[in-house]
Amino acid sequence: MKKSLRIIAAAAIVAIAASCAPKVAVTAHRGFWNCEEAGYAENSIKALELAQKNHFWGSEFDVHITSDLVLVVHHDAHIQGKSIHTHNYADFKDYRLKNGEKLPTLDEYLTQGEKGGTVLVFELKKQLDKAHEDYMVDQSVAALKRHGLYDPKKVIFISFSRNICERIAALCPGFTNQYLEKDLTPEEVFAKGINGIDYHYSAFNEHPEWVGQAHDRKMSVNVWTVDKDDDIKKMIGLGVDCITTNQPLKVRKILGSKENKWK
Ligand code: MG
Repeated sequence: MKKSLRIIAAAAIVAIAASCAPKVAVTAHRGFWNCEEAGYAENSIKALELAQKNHFWGSEFDVHITSDLVLVVHHDAHIQGKSIHTHNYADFKDYRLKNGEKLPTLDEYLTQGEKGGTVLVFELKKQLDKAHEDYMVDQSVAALKRHGLYDPKKVIFISFSRNICERIAALCPGFTNQYLEKDLTPEEVFAKGINGIDYHYSAFNEHPEWVGQAHDRKMSVNVWTVDKDDDIKKMIGLGVDCITTNQPLKVRKILGSKENKWK
C-alpha cells in the first residue's frame, strides 16, 4: 500500500474508533442538581423542567402511593412525620415543597415529562406489601400510556424492590429495568429476568468486574449517586453506561464529547 493510502486508512480507523467510543449518559438525581440552592426542590416539576432544558439524557424521580391509592412523586416514605403509605392524598394538601409547589401526583409530573426528550428514570419505591407494589407498577404503566410515554426510549424503570423489578420484567418487555439493591451479582439479577443494574458506586469500587459481567449479558449499567471528581472519573473509566448525580453540570464537563445527550 502506498504511504498516502496507509495514512488515509489509518485516519479512517481512528475516525471509526472515535465514533464507536462508548458514551456515558448523565441522569439528574431527583431532577435538578443543587436544587434547593437554586430554588428548585428535588422531585419537583420545576426540577424536571430544568433537567429537560439542559438536555440531560435522564432525570430521576421517586414514586410512592397513598393509602387511597394516589401515585405521588416524593422521595421519603414520610412527609412531616406522616407515612405516605397510611395517609390519604388529601392529608398532604397543605404540604409544600421547598420551592412552593404542592406534592405532585404522578399524572401532574408526567404532564411535564411529555414536554421534553429527557428520559424519565422512574424509581418505584418499596411499598407495604406485594399487593401495593403490584398495584403501583400496574398504575404506573397505565399512567405512562395515558401520557404517551410508554416507550423504552422515553422511560426506564429502577427499584430497590426485587418484586417490582420482576413485575416490570414480566409486564414491560423491551424496557430498561434496573435493580438498585447491590445484594446480587449481575449474573443473579440476570437470572431473575431483570436486564440492568443501578448500584451505589461503592459496589463497583468493590466489584469493578461487575460492569463487564453485566455488559457480557447485554445488561445496562447505571451508578448512583456520584458527585466527587475522582469518583466520577473512576466510574467513567470502568465503562458504566449512565451516571446518576446531584452534579450533572460537573459530570458533563468531565465527560466532554463522551456525554450521551438527547437533542
Ligand atoms: Mg430515587
